[in-house]
Amino acid sequence: MQQTPFNAIVVSNQEVAPGVFILRVAPEGWTLPPFKPGQFAVLGLPVEAPRHPLADPDDDPRPDRSGLLRRSYSIASSSRQKRYVEFFFSVVRSGDLSPRLGALRPGDRLWLSPKFSGFFTLDQVPAEANVIMVATGTGLAPYMSMLRSFLPEQPGRRFGVIHGARHSWDLGYRGELEALQRRHANLLYLPVISAPTEEVPPWGGLVGRVQDVWRQRPFDAPWGVCPAPPHTHVLLCGNPAMVESMSALLQEEGFREHSRLAPGEIHVERYW
Ligand SMILES: Cc1cc2nc3c(=O)[nH]c(=O)nc-3n(C[C@H](O)[C@H](O)[C@H](O)COP(=O)(O)OP(=O)(O)OC[C@H]3O[C@@H](n4cnc5c(N)ncnc54)[C@H](O)[C@@H]3O)c2cc1C
Repeated sequence: MQQTPFNAIVVSNQEVAPGVFILRVAPEGWTLPPFKPGQFAVLGLPVEAPRHPLADPDDDPRPDRSGLLRRSYSIASSSRQKRYVEFFFSVVRSGDLSPRLGALRPGDRLWLSPKFSGFFTLDQVPAEANVIMVATGTGLAPYMSMLRSFLPEQPGRRFGVIHGARHSWDLGYRGELEALQRRHANLLYLPVISAPTEEVPPWGGLVGRVQDVWRQRPFDAPWGVCPAPPHTHVLLCGNPAMVESMSALLQEEGFREHSRLAPGEIHVERYW
């Protein structure tokens, strides 16, 4: 039987909301490669690994599932953090890998890709441009890496974050983002929830979808300028339906989707 190529160990796996985790993984016997904030790694576990108790049972009958189950995950930690990489993921109950990641405990072993990749970085954004980061759910992960890496060294650049979730308790990293906002006057953090009637105590913040927040033009007054191309670039990450809808909205306002061949001000990462 082929030996499972585990090369990393779980440092911590904190369930920050039901089915939503912050996972830290350290390499075993090798050094993390340098990476650009916004890039992703690939994680892998074998089919035999246990699943989170809330996930659906694995009834996939395929006999050829003997290798590692592998999926991509955006890195949430700072590029200056050399001891471990952090991930922010949710358990897809019917999924292959995420229910197994949700069952990991400190000290468990898994596979971590030795190289990190991806083009969803600030490399293509001019240094003087404002950056607005829009995410639903775990789509916040690459922005945490960007903010943790760049906020301290780019005090002259405006950063905005619109993060949407169903409930306030699903807004991972809210405490850290509020603290960053207090410390860095150039960060505006706008959490928004879509199911306010389920909140106890009542939610006093923004309500609806991230698209609704964008339409309310929340940056105009605090920034004293209306975010527009070319001086503002918008990053979209997470649920593909949100990415499509936000991109269409932005294109009506004159933003263009960025590609390597045709530069634009909308940068997208689709999770599925
Ligand atoms: C570049 C990249 C970066 C990614 N980064 C992250 C990340 O930081 N955090 C994260 O949680 N996921 C991330 N994903 C998604 C991740 O790779 C997996 O697709 C996800 O964890 C589901 O894997 P699974 O094996 O459990 O489900 P699968 O068996 O692969 O089933 C996939 C199905 O589950 C649904 N699905 C996939 N992802 C999600 C999700 N996040 N929420 C709800 N439904 C989903 C879709 O319908 C999809 O078709 C990323 C994907 C890409 C391509």
